[in-house]
Amino acid sequence: MKDDLDTALAHLTAARNVVVLTGAGVSAESGIPTFREALTGLWARYRPEELASPEAFQENPQRVWDWYAWRRQLCLDVAPNAAHHAITALQDLVPELVLISQNVDGLHQRAGSANVLELHGSIHRIRCFACDRPGGDWPDPVGEVPVCRCGGLMRPTIVWFGELLPADVLAQAEQAALGADVMLSVGTSSLVYPAADLPYTAKRQGAFLIEVNPQPTPLSPIADVCLQGLAGTWLPRIVEALSARREA
Ligand code: NAD
Ligand code: ZN
Repeated sequence: MKDDLDTALAHLTAARNVVVLTGAGVSAESGIPTFREALTGLWARYRPEELASPEAFQENPQRVWDWYAWRRQLCLDVAPNAAHHAITALQDLVPELVLISQNVDGLHQRAGSANVLELHGSIHRIRCFACDRPGGDWPDPVGEVPVCRCGGLMRPTIVWFGELLPADVLAQAEQAALGADVMLSVGTSSLVYPAADLPYTAKRQGAFLIEVNPQPTPLSPIADVCLQGLAGTWLPRIVEALSARREA
């Protein structure tokens, strides 16, 4: 019975360490398009690698800067949805919760989640392409690519195609997966590595795996429970049921 909410709730109630891994699907109901969906209008003529790689930045920094400026504004213009809020609420209903996200949009933080492990970086901060010096938030107005005091150009702190994930963040995420009693995989296609490895790591050491996604993914066959549907529907339902159990 893979759609068994009661079994999922029983494991969540008994769990000490809960790990939540989120992907683009958790922000879909906020209106954030996936990378490919966003390649419309002005941007339709580019392939993702032409906008999101170190080579693209070297070739045309202003174009890449403008693309991220536009994506960042999109993120600022939308609000966290019921799924983000439910994850924040879940933090108070279990002894330990680690939130790992592949999203760069900052919506978990805006919903009140603290200490998000951002595997793919954040669109809201910049750093130097040459010397790595953190540059904080974007300049206002966004304008031309800012120049670092080393003479290098500033870039968004996003993990681009061909780049490694931040090693310290990945190590913390792996540590959390190794200690998880329950892992929730929410709104991720489970195709992008190494993030997609984390639920396997958790499962191997005995974690109970819950997947929330309207579509089956490569992870579904090993998930203990697959809650088929929207994150914004299932996560508030889980939180409501857990709170009710707490009060009972
Ligand atoms: P993905 O786009 O590959 O997959 C999204 C998954 O979410 C799919 O399996 C889809 O079925 C599911 N989904 C769609 N709507 C949903 C909903 N309402 N509720 C629950 N699930 C839903 O995303 P990914 O697995 O995160 O990997 C893609 C890469 O793109 C990542 O590297 C990520 O960093 C990046 N990305 C980030 C953002 C963001 O920050 N919001 C947006 C697009 C892409
Ligand atoms: Zn520099």
